[in-house]
Amino acid sequence: MVNAELLKLAERFHGHICPFLVLGLRASEIAFEKLGLIKPGVYETISEDIVAIVEANNCFADGVQIATGCTLGNNSLVYIDLGKNAVTILKRYSGKGIRVYIDAERLDKYIPREARELFHKVVIERRGSREEAEKLNEIWREIGLKMATLPEEEFKITEVEVTEEIERAPIFESIRCSRCGELAMSTRVVYIEGKPYCLTCAGMGTNAVIGRGIVTGVRTPYRISKVEK
Ligand SMILES: [Zn+2]
Ligand SMILES: [Zn+2]
Repeated sequence: MVNAELLKLAERFHGHICPFLVLGLRASEIAFEKLGLIKPGVYETISEDIVAIVEANNCFADGVQIATGCTLGNNSLVYIDLGKNAVTILKRYSGKGIRVYIDAERLDKYIPREARELFHKVVIERRGSREEAEKLNEIWREIGLKMATLPEEEFKITEVEVTEEIERAPIFESIRCSRCGELAMSTRVVYIEGKPYCLTCAGMGTNAVIGRGIVTGVRTPYRISKVEK
């Protein structure tokens, strides 16, 4: 079961306790146990030979990052845009891993009708009062904490075999944009009439993770209005 310290850390990171945050913690823990990996403590780091794959960018993904120590920033987290609540933990070079999937419909029995109705009103229809939002947060937290001890049987757990080795983050040289003067990774620089430009200055789109997942052709959604020294 997910320990209190991990829950606290997850809450600070994610901003609130909710069911899918805790499910991300619990699913990661199950995968670690199956692989015989040591559960990372709050202050411990884990070997970078472990890769976590998440399939959606939601609360669950935050739980995974906290529980596994595989994060967006340390390049041990891979986000594949499949829109599912699952985590796969791979041990690099072992060729093996464990995938843990949770089916939201299986959770219905843990979520009281009142909570579902309130969720609909506050989150989906966005017409709840402040009190109702707070009440929802309270119930949500309570259900979230229950997920810390969710039995293994509620998850779908499968062994996986690695078919493609995941690359380690390569290091690219930096090129200075001839317009803004900032350095950008060479793979994100374009040349116009022989001069290098960053994608922002070139007004070009690139890939971005936004609410709905990974989207291509996203342009930098702001422009510099004032230069601070
Ligand atoms: Zn959440
Ligand atoms: Zn530029």
